[in-house]
Amino acid sequence: MLDAIVVGAGLGGLSCAAKLAHGGKSVLALEKMHHVGGTSYIFKRDGYIFPMGPLSFSFPNLVKKMLHDAGIKKEIIFKRQHFQLLSPHIDIIYSQEWMEFKKHLKFLFKKDQQGIDACFDTFTSLFEAIKDIHEWNPEFLIGKKKKMQKKY
Ligand SMILES: Cc1cc2nc3c(=O)[nH]c(=O)nc-3n(C[C@H](O)[C@H](O)[C@H](O)COP(=O)(O)OP(=O)(O)OC[C@H]3O[C@@H](n4cnc5c(N)ncnc54)[C@H](O)[C@@H]3O)c2cc1C
Repeated sequence: MLDAIVVGAGLGGLSCAAKLAHGGKSVLALEKMHHVGGTSYIFKRDGYIFPMGPLSFSFPNLVKKMLHDAGIKKEIIFKRQHFQLLSPHIDIIYSQEWMEFKKHLKFLFKKDQQGIDACFDTFTSLFEAIKDIHEWNPEFLIGKKKKMQKKY
């Protein structure tokens, strides 16, 4: 007899199962694949590593809180990630300052100036549309705004 059955052992299912178990419930987590973690998974082929999903946590504080709530008391220190796109003709770090990234792309792809501008314009309008997202959840504050919030 179980209190709960969680179908799917991705980060969502595992978090849910861990929280229930920490709350004293008996839980069975079921997974259809041969590995747990769902899209948080990598595989290796011919010496290359292929990430199937997340490369870093967008909201590390939420992850810390979730682990804490699930009973993991050990302090976990996250390291900042840098993402680099490497191919025979491209070598670019894309976790750099937004406008520097755009400049770098325009330098690499001289024929695609308009396309790059249009792409960044679209992203800028998307960022504009979600600029108040922290009013919904303060965890979504990033960068300078987050530092400001801590100050006050
Ligand atoms: C390419 C990519 C990049 C991403 N990058 C980031 C990132 O950098 N940072 C970040 O924070 N997030 C990132 N995300 C988002 C993040 O991966 C997801 O939000 C998170 O992993 C979703 O977890 P989940 O448990 O909801 O779903 P999933 O990880 O999809 O897990 C669902 C699980 O349920 C299993 N399942 C489904 N049906 C059944 C069934 N009938 N029976 C048994 N098992 C079943 C599946 O096999 C799977 O293991 C990325 C996602 C993708 C795809």
